[in-house]
Amino acid sequence: MLANKTLLLLPGDGIGPEVMAQARRVLNWLQKTNRASFEISEDLVGGAAIDVHGVPVTEATMVRALAADAILFGSVGGPKWDSVPFDIRPEAALLRLRKDLGVFANLRPAKVFDALVDSSSLKPELVRGLDIMIVRECIGGIYFGEPRGVETLPDGQQRGINTEVYTTSEIERVGRVAFDLARKRGKRVASVEKSNVMESGLLWRQVMTALRNAEYPDVELSHVLADNCAMQLVRTPKQFDVIVTSNLFGDILSDLASMLTGSLGMLPSATLGAPDSLGHRHALYEPIHGSAPDIAGKGLANPLAQMLSFAMLLRYSFGMDEDALLIERACTNVLASGLRTADVMAPGCARVGTHVMGEAVVRELDKLAA
Ligand code: NAD
Repeated sequence: MLANKTLLLLPGDGIGPEVMAQARRVLNWLQKTNRASFEISEDLVGGAAIDVHGVPVTEATMVRALAADAILFGSVGGPKWDSVPFDIRPEAALLRLRKDLGVFANLRPAKVFDALVDSSSLKPELVRGLDIMIVRECIGGIYFGEPRGVETLPDGQQRGINTEVYTTSEIERVGRVAFDLARKRGKRVASVEKSNVMESGLLWRQVMTALRNAEYPDVELSHVLADNCAMQLVRTPKQFDVIVTSNLFGDILSDLASMLTGSLGMLPSATLGAPDSLGHRHALYEPIHGSAPDIAGKGLANPLAQMLSFAMLLRYSFGMDEDALLIERACTNVLASGLRTADVMAPGCARVGTHVMGEAVVRELDKLAA
């Protein structure tokens, strides 16, 4: 059993607390069965923090977040806070956390569970067994580059400006995350940019090539233009293993890839920082879905994305691959048994709510560990 690890849980708004409660059951199961020992704290974030503190994340929460070994985040936002000032909107909490933690590599697996192969918008044969990892740089590029803004020209027109900027070290650090992941998977990285029309893309390609030759000669590197990548993802998605790309292209391509798998309620994510000299890194784990205000409070949300985010946390922050696999297997088996939340409901299956789904996963963990 590992020594105490500090975890910060930030359930947030809408369905966030509902799905977090189910992830917490898995966490409790690990502790109860002596597989792990965690020091757990929980805090408000997003709209819930605005209601109590007037800001989406307090300084005290930031101190806890910086001290934690890993953070499990739910989701934030909702119509209740639509009219709060832009800089203190619920989503600003996530941006602040990412920025202050220095987490720059967003990992989004697009994995198709056999039992859900018919939920995909693509033909079953194209997605059966699909298992892609998209690594998106998430604190640089055009969303943060300067100059930016809207200016008024001498002729009275307005001009909107955003700037795509990447430095060698920013490209290298996200590249290393992708190559390291590929080494544990299919040993193939597709680096995605637009080097045919963007200088920053040309630099991206050159840096990725140099990094691969210097540090990862055992990993196969291919270069794919972003538009072609989008096309290939819907044509033959299984050709990819790890995809690494910029903030903007990653934003679009990871959403595209997530739909290949069928439901938002199934997809976890991790956002990692650079390892320090002891190998520790800041890390934030969250489902890719939002706070789903349309179903919040009704006990309908699919908790699997949150539970699978916790499995990623075990794997990437604590090296607990075996336990991560156990949780993933439990989720797979529960789906295969025909239990489904409404978002992934199929003919012949039994429709259940958030709580029953969570309960079923824990029961399956008991069986698998027996
Ligand atoms: P959403 O992901 O919350 O919901 C989109 C659709 O998917 C809805 O119909 C919802 O019911 C469904 N859905 C999402 N998660 C589900 C789950 N686990 N189980 C079953 N169905 C699920 O996206 P949205 O509606 O565009 O945004 C709602 C709010 O969430 C907004 O305030 C938005 O800003 C916020 N948001 C937050 C995050 C985050 O916290 N990281 C991410 C995206 C959106």
